[in-house]
Amino acid sequence: MYSQNYFASYAVSTAQSSGRQFQESSDTKRDSFQRDRDRIIHANAFRRLMYKTQVFVNYEGDMYRTRLTHSLEVAQIGRSVARNLNLNEALTEAICLAHDLGHTPFGHAGQDALNTCMRDYGGFEHNLQSLRVVDVLEKRYAAFPGLNLMFETREGILKHCSKRNAKTLGKLGERFLKREQPCLEAQIADISDAIAYNNHDVDDGLRAGLLTVQGLCETELFSAKFELVKKQYPDLEGSLLHNEIIRRMINDLVLDLQNNSASNIRDLNPLSVKDVRQAGRKMILMSEKMLDKHQELKKYLFKNFYKHNKVLEMNSHADKVVTTLFNAYLNDLGLLPPEHRQKALSETELSVEDQKARAVADYIAGMTDRFAEQECSNFRC
Ligand code: MG
Repeated sequence: MYSQNYFASYAVSTAQSSGRQFQESSDTKRDSFQRDRDRIIHANAFRRLMYKTQVFVNYEGDMYRTRLTHSLEVAQIGRSVARNLNLNEALTEAICLAHDLGHTPFGHAGQDALNTCMRDYGGFEHNLQSLRVVDVLEKRYAAFPGLNLMFETREGILKHCSKRNAKTLGKLGERFLKREQPCLEAQIADISDAIAYNNHDVDDGLRAGLLTVQGLCETELFSAKFELVKKQYPDLEGSLLHNEIIRRMINDLVLDLQNNSASNIRDLNPLSVKDVRQAGRKMILMSEKMLDKHQELKKYLFKNFYKHNKVLEMNSHADKVVTTLFNAYLNDLGLLPPEHRQKALSETELSVEDQKARAVADYIAGMTDRFAEQECSNFRC
């Protein structure tokens, strides 16, 4: 059994948990959060992350991050931080691995396109969709729909939520209405996501030739590490140089996050998970100085990478594919596989039109990039 001996009193433990939606007998070998992590890894939606875009469309090259490798890098960072702060490592890992399960094909461009298609039917938001995947869409157990994950795992997956949506989510939505904080493990997963993507996007951008070392040296975080590496290895170039810089950036960010969060925890002195929720502010935070540097890098990437012509071209193609598929399926539900067609009329709390549109959105959101392309070719996309 996973040792909980190192847990701080404010770490989520099975004893302090709000539990599962459907009662299950306990496992003698694994604790509940280890089981959650294992269920996520075995989920269909998790495997499909392998063929979903992070920034580059999957077929652009084998070396770029996909949603799957992104999620693994987030989990690596999250686990280190959780262990160092005596928090629940398995819960943190579970949230990190599941946080992008609801992403559409083609990354943010796909989500934006699907959200536009769904504007008259309640919209589409990848965070809510990740929750929907683990609560409803995965079908692996005869006794209940979804994965029946622990409350805190689901809470961590639902990173953001509008008040309107929160009102429909019962206990899970309460923290958004009461303005409470999520557990510390969820806070770690949130920041680990940002540390992972900022750093691996630098790597992927350099690899693709869309970013340059010289350009990135405009940012303080990158240039300081560039100077250090060049001092130690004056002749280093190419991918080795990039790696040596990026590993130092990740290390600095993670160490700062750990130290600053430990100091916040000391100041606010929570004794339980309840204290964490009612603390009035987040505790898992980088120092202001490091956050500024991290934000500067993020802004640089936004301007020079995410808005690069080549990335924008991929985005406009993604928009076309998702919109074409949505319109085609909504026009003729007979094109959906039988289980999706059946589901289209099973959520009786929605109007018939909303049920149909939601079933179409679920089907499209679950697609990999290449499957969406293949399907779209049937409609001369
Ligand atoms: Mg992510």
